[in-house]
Amino acid sequence: MPSIDLGAHITFLAGVGKQRAKLLHDFMQITTIGDLLTYFPFKHIDRSRLYTVTELTADMPFVQLRGEILSFSEEGEGRKRRLVAHFTDGQGLVDLVWFNGLAYIRRLYKEHTPYIVFGRPSLYKDRFSIMHPDVDPADSEPWVSFAKPTAIPPKPLQSFLMQPYYSVPEKAKKRGLTSRFISLLVSDLLRQLTEPLPETLPPYLVSQMSLMPRDEALRTMHFPPSSEALTRASYRLKFEELFYIQLSILRYARDRRGRFKGMPCKRIGGRFNSFYYERLPFAMTGAQKRVVKEMWEDMRSGRQMNRLLQGDVGSGKTLVALMLMLIAIDNGLQACIMAPTEILASQHLETFRSMLGELPVRVELLTSSVKGKRRRETLEGLAKGDVNILVGTHAVIEDPVEFLRLGLAVIDEQHRFGVAQRARLWRKTDTPPHVLVMTATPIPRTLAMTLYGDLDVSVIDELPPGRKPVVTVHQRNEHRADLYEGMRRQLALGRQIYVVFPLIKESEKMDLRNLEDGFERLRQVFPNVAVGKVHGRMKPADKDEEMRRFARGETRILVSTTVIEVGVNVPNASVMVIENAERFGLAQLHQLRGRVGRGADQSYCVLVTNDRLSREQRKRMAIMTETTDGFVIAEEDMKLRGPGDMEGTQQSGMPFELRVANLARDGQIVQLARDTATQVLDDDKTCDAPRNAVLWQHLRELRQQTPDWSAIS
Ligand code: ADP
Ligand code: MG
Repeated sequence: MPSIDLGAHITFLAGVGKQRAKLLHDFMQITTIGDLLTYFPFKHIDRSRLYTVTELTADMPFVQLRGEILSFSEEGEGRKRRLVAHFTDGQGLVDLVWFNGLAYIRRLYKEHTPYIVFGRPSLYKDRFSIMHPDVDPADSEPWVSFAKPTAIPPKPLQSFLMQPYYSVPEKAKKRGLTSRFISLLVSDLLRQLTEPLPETLPPYLVSQMSLMPRDEALRTMHFPPSSEALTRASYRLKFEELFYIQLSILRYARDRRGRFKGMPCKRIGGRFNSFYYERLPFAMTGAQKRVVKEMWEDMRSGRQMNRLLQGDVGSGKTLVALMLMLIAIDNGLQACIMAPTEILASQHLETFRSMLGELPVRVELLTSSVKGKRRRETLEGLAKGDVNILVGTHAVIEDPVEFLRLGLAVIDEQHRFGVAQRARLWRKTDTPPHVLVMTATPIPRTLAMTLYGDLDVSVIDELPPGRKPVVTVHQRNEHRADLYEGMRRQLALGRQIYVVFPLIKESEKMDLRNLEDGFERLRQVFPNVAVGKVHGRMKPADKDEEMRRFARGETRILVSTTVIEVGVNVPNASVMVIENAERFGLAQLHQLRGRVGRGADQSYCVLVTNDRLSREQRKRMAIMTETTDGFVIAEEDMKLRGPGDMEGTQQSGMPFELRVANLARDGQIVQLARDTATQVLDDDKTCDAPRNAVLWQHLRELRQQTPDWSAIS
């Protein structure tokens, strides 16, 4: 046991009263001592080197000087009022400048007393100055604790050679919470933790993998003796995080395999065959055939299928899903497919109905806008088994609908559900349906291993024949005339055009106005062309109607927000114009671009941006114009944005929160963690080997802390 309880409230620490506790809680989610312990610095700065004033240059990041204050002066008026300490190290002069807390600072520091000063030098009128430096007595004891709970006394920070920097939100900084204050709290806490912190990995793993013990790693993360030690500490903690994620996912997948029987789908029957031989308007690609076969193997195996189907936009995943649903139906079962938006759901409905034609397959739609009698009839049909295929939005599974015998559930275009959420959907029955998850955009391997780590994977790595890669150009706002000229040519060829505007919640009003302005402008530029418009604020029925008008070719230009992002399919549309393209992420741009290039015509994607772009924005545009390969784009996206930020994965999906590991940078550790977890499970099939006791115990605790997992474990 550690000497103090990590669950203790943060006010347990000297220096934290009610007010600071509230700041820590509100702005940094720190409530307990344990929270503080795992609030790791985002960087360290090496303070082992002392500089002299004569060495300073204007472009130095942080420097440390030793010397004394000669005198103070207060300068400036109003908001520019500042306290200046004239500091010398015997070789030159530097001004130390404060804009806040002047009186307090003035009292705190004395003239002609040896100090260590730390900060970022800037050059102004031939004189170096340092704003808001850290100032410590040059000769005090290390690890001094708080004397009085309210004041922040000078601290001997030079004793931490690598000084930690904690991220503190601006709002909290304004109220006096600083990185430095956090570092003092942590150092105080670590000093009081006299017993080692409990180990969460079994000793045999720690030594087999040459990991730093957990106690040492946690301490080192805050106050590393060297940068090598810091690397080892973070490696240890990253491994631990990723290992437990993999252990949790793999253990869950094994449990499921052992527990659930699959819905039997032994035969290929009449509906499948009629469809395949009589109704299919084109030949399936080799990749489509292969993945259908792979999945049929699963469905007939007697086990429950749990598969991820990866395939780039336009690779024909919908058809694959339909074929598998027909197999289920031929075996006396029902199927459902869930799409993320209403538009997409109704489009699936139409696609299926028109592809199936006269075949005896009843397909119905269920979304929040299906109401009254139609809804009642659909629900009855599902319960009686008359409805063969249900097309719906994700809302349908969140609020489960009763089927007579659901045999296959397809989740289309989702990166919104995590392992545990998916697991909960059908946990009420012993024979859950086969599950097929289809991704909208390819996702990088390390992310797939984490978000979909419990699923088998099938990949469609081939596009239907005859597709010409979409030609993508980046056009600055000022060249609008060229853009309209290009659009005019395509319209003359009989093609249709999407024009997409960003719509971000925070700036919704302005975005909608941009869209309206854009709509009006296009009507003026193309007075003889029917222009439609669709956005998320419209009623679902109106949205659908607009989409349909475009799909039928009644409107030639469709102005819209990203509601058209996923799935919609209008093969005659050959131009995708994306306005303010710099505001979109790569995955989204790729999705949008995937809306064109679906027919045989040469298609174009025009990324219209501001004239001035940040480096990252420029890079995104460059990637888009260089490649149309979704897998390449996914990898680049993760590198640029970091996995936590990847679209759709923000709030949900991660089994446990990652504090140290980063799926984009730590791919090798992800793989190692997965291999190690597999090994552990292979060697301890019943999950009760004494040497792994600590491991199963810790896994249980982690799952209990995660709402999703606690529901299934
Ligand atoms: P996604 O994988 O992005 O969901 P879709 O299933 O919407 O792609 O398919 C894109 C387009 O390609 C559709 O118009 C579909 O009818 C067509 N398609 C699918 N498979 C083939 C094929 N084997 N040959 C020709 N066209 C195909
Ligand atoms: Mg699709």
